[in-house]
Amino acid sequence: MEKGAVCIIGAGISGLTCARNLADRGYPVTVFEKSRGVGGRMSTRRTDDGTLFDHGAPYFTVQGERFRSQVERWIDDGVVVPWEVNIVELYQGRADKEGRPVERFVAVPGMNGICHSLAQGLDVRFNTTVAPPERDGDGWLIRDQDGGELGRFQAVLISAPAPQTTALLKAAPLLVKRAERVRMAPSWAVMAAFQEPLGPAYDAAFIHQSPLTWIAKNSGKPGRPTSPETWVLQATPAWTAEQIEKEPSRVTRRLLEAFREATGCGSAEPSFSTAHLWRYAVPPEPHPGPFMLDEKLRIGACGDWCGGPRVEGAFLSGALLAERLCELA
Ligand SMILES: Cc1cc2nc3c(=O)[nH]c(=O)nc-3n(C[C@H](O)[C@H](O)[C@H](O)COP(=O)(O)OP(=O)(O)OC[C@H]3O[C@@H](n4cnc5c(N)ncnc54)[C@H](O)[C@@H]3O)c2cc1C
Repeated sequence: MEKGAVCIIGAGISGLTCARNLADRGYPVTVFEKSRGVGGRMSTRRTDDGTLFDHGAPYFTVQGERFRSQVERWIDDGVVVPWEVNIVELYQGRADKEGRPVERFVAVPGMNGICHSLAQGLDVRFNTTVAPPERDGDGWLIRDQDGGELGRFQAVLISAPAPQTTALLKAAPLLVKRAERVRMAPSWAVMAAFQEPLGPAYDAAFIHQSPLTWIAKNSGKPGRPTSPETWVLQATPAWTAEQIEKEPSRVTRRLLEAFREATGCGSAEPSFSTAHLWRYAVPPEPHPGPFMLDEKLRIGACGDWCGGPRVEGAFLSGALLAERLCELA
């Protein structure tokens, strides 16, 4: 494709990988992001007193060679470090060693470190919620949700979770049909800080027979302040679906109770706690292809719901979509 302006919607890892690849090949790229920072579901929450929580993806794994080469570059650049962590499986108070240890990685100083690194030198506009793109001659007119014009582009690439992408794809009916088939499961995440160490002999756990599926000591990850002791508690998709309309304060209380039941960690009260709802956390059955692209209209979509359901899948989806766009005549 000749090097016309490209609009990317979303500054998570898939959108920024796509943007980085296109910018490195000389395309003028603008990224619009509705929140106030990069990361999406790899975000890091900073409280008013500076405490950090990775409240989305707590870590990532590596399967394929392409992602492994990228992770090695991030390690060389000091953006990613291996997370050698003592993980257990908790069954109502009984702790078993993790069955099959896996190589895990975290970004530093927070999980959003990768997205900060990808965004360096890119034109990223925050606090901008994009409305469905409108066809404009042989290109696209992009407006924000209040109708304000954001610009005209030769191509538009959307990296939002599947249901949000479906709403943005109004002008590309062929892609809507495919995107609307992908469901995304929700997850409540509770962030809690404790002034005194809680004492479990592990730093993270998969939890069974509980509203919780996973807990991790955020302050035990490399490159994070060790005090206060911080934990992120992640609810199962099934429990979250039942509690999706509940007040965050009620969810926080219930998941802290489940945390105490699962770990046996006494009655220590957190000095800070809050809950965040990931309405579109993970796609149980992603779209089989690694991206979607209407090559004639030059509108496409990428993300973890295309190809692979995790950080690696999102990265590959963004990279492959950028490559395909460049190949178009
Ligand atoms: C609780 C939780 C735990 C997880 N655990 C793991 C794990 O252990 N390992 C792992 O590999 N993965 C894990 N994941 C999944 C991983 O976080 C995702 O696969 C990955 O971050 C998805 O990246 P993405 O770029 O596809 O989407 P996102 O990160 O969701 O990025 C999409 C971006 O688009 C923006 N956006 C949406 N609509 C608009 C609009 N109209 N205008 C402008 N911007 C818009 C959003 O604000 C967002 O920033 C977890 C996710 C969650 C939520």
